[in-house]
Parts: sequence; C-alpha cells; structure tokens
Amino acid sequence: HLDTIEADVPYEELIPLARTIQTDRKLREDNETMRREFTANVSHELKTPLTSISGYAELIETGMAKPADVPTFATRIHKEAQRMIALVSDILQLSELDSTQASHSREPVTEMAPVDLAALVKETAQNMTVNARRAYVTLQYDARPATVRGSRDQLSELTQNLCDNAIRYNRPGGHVELRCGVGGDGCPYFEVEDNGIGIPQDSQTRVFERFYRVDKSRSKATGGTGLGLAIVKHIALLHDAKIDLQSQVGTGTTIRVTFPKNS
Ligand code: ADP
Repeated sequence: HLDTIEADVPYEELIPLARTIQTDRKLREDNETMRREFTANVSHELKTPLTSISGYAELIETGMAKPADVPTFATRIHKEAQRMIALVSDILQLSELDSTQASHSREPVTEMAPVDLAALVKETAQNMTVNARRAYVTLQYDARPATVRGSRDQLSELTQNLCDNAIRYNRPGGHVELRCGVGGDGCPYFEVEDNGIGIPQDSQTRVFERFYRVDKSRSKATGGTGLGLAIVKHIALLHDAKIDLQSQVGTGTTIRVTFPKNS
C-alpha cells in the first residue's frame, strides 16, 4: 500500500515538501540559537550591575568603606539598581510583544482603532523636553495630521524610544526634530531627525538586534539597555510598518517609520 502512495506522489511535489521540512528545521534551530544567545546576554547584563551592588554593599556592611564614602556608594547602588529595573522592564515588554506576535487570535491592524499620530508626536515632544534640556539639545516637532491604526501604547513607546535615542546620541548644542504626516504615496509616517554622532555604515543593520550597541560605554552611561531599537522594530512589525534608517557618522541620523496606506 505504501508503495502505491509513494508512487502516486509525483517526484516534483516531493521536492517542495522536503524543502519545507528543511526550512522548518532551520527556522527552529535559528530560533533556538537566538533564545540561547538572548538568555546569555540577559544573564550577563544583569550580572554586571548585581556584582557592583553586591561589592558596594559588602564594603559598607564590613565597615571597610570610609564613612565619607558611604553616600557615594549608596548613589552607585541606586544607579545600578535603576539600570536593572530599566532592563527588566524592557525584557518584559519584548516578551509581551513576542507573545502578541505569536498569538493566532491577533486582531488584524486594519481592524484596530485609529490613533491620532500628530497628538502622539506632540505628547512625545512634551515628555522628552526635560531630557533634551538636560542634554543641552533643542527639540522641535512638525506634527501634520495623520492617523494610524494600531495600539496607542505601543506607538507611543515607538516614538519615545526613537526620540530618546536622538537626544542621547547627540552632543551639547545639537538638534532633534520629530515629524509626522501623510507622504505623497498616501502612507502615514513618523520621522526623527538628529544631527548627533551618527551610526557607522556597518552597524546600521545591526542596531535593531537585541543588545547590539555601537558604543557600549556611551549606551550604558546614558541609561541605555540595548533593547530600545529591538522594541521599535517589533512594534513596527506588529503595525505592518517599514523602518528606514539614514545615518552618517558626525552628521546625524534620520529614522523614518512608514505605516500602511489607509491604516
Ligand atoms: P541603547 O539602549 O543602547 O540606546 P538601542 O537599541 O536603542 O539601545 O540602540 C542600539 C544602538 O544604536 C545604540 O547603542 C547606539 O549605539 C545606536 N543608536 C541608536 N540610535 C542612535 C542615534 N539616533 N544616533 C546614533 N546612534 C544611535
């Protein structure tokens, strides 16, 4: 009987089937590798601040710290703990986005509620003003009417993350501009332009990877977790949006997110 079935399936039809099985296996292996790398990265990123916290606490506990140094050590412990909170909160957010993406019952973007993108851009600019001032960076916006279907919370996260980076990877006296509107192609867009430090060519595709940083010390010093752009990429994906990055070292960076037409 088996012989007959096998003989009945034309050879040409078996090839794509074999390919699908092979692709599935490759995808599963890739996923497994990514999961392993992610766990290793998370462990490393958490271990560093924990080691500092433990070290400073031990110095205070054993009386080895001079009384005059205690406030400084307390400040460092606080800072490292805050870094851990930021990291854990970004990891939780990524995992939530992951499960939304994996869920089969996910509502199609075209059926989601409309979000006023212009209002979101104004709100982002207001929320980020203090950060900009602290970094001696000027922040402006040009919010033209635009509506996007999707999650307001996620879209707000996307605009804030991109604006936050434009401020952090800038220099005193630098400038950041947020823009939104509907392009000539009828697609709504959100754009952030900065005249900051820029991203080297060979890093431009990698910055969206989890934990990839061009300059690790700068990222950490400014409170970066290395997950901001990975979160942005995920949110864009969930909204069927496309991300374009243009950057030149020493000149600045422009990131544009283009949403589907009529969304
Ligand atoms: P981080 O928490 O390190 O900022 P992100 O995922 O947000 O992590 O960004 C990844 C890396 O991309 C950053 O570490 C930085 O090197 C680079 N980067 C992101 N945005 C900008 C920008 N506007 N200008 C220059 N470099 C940037």
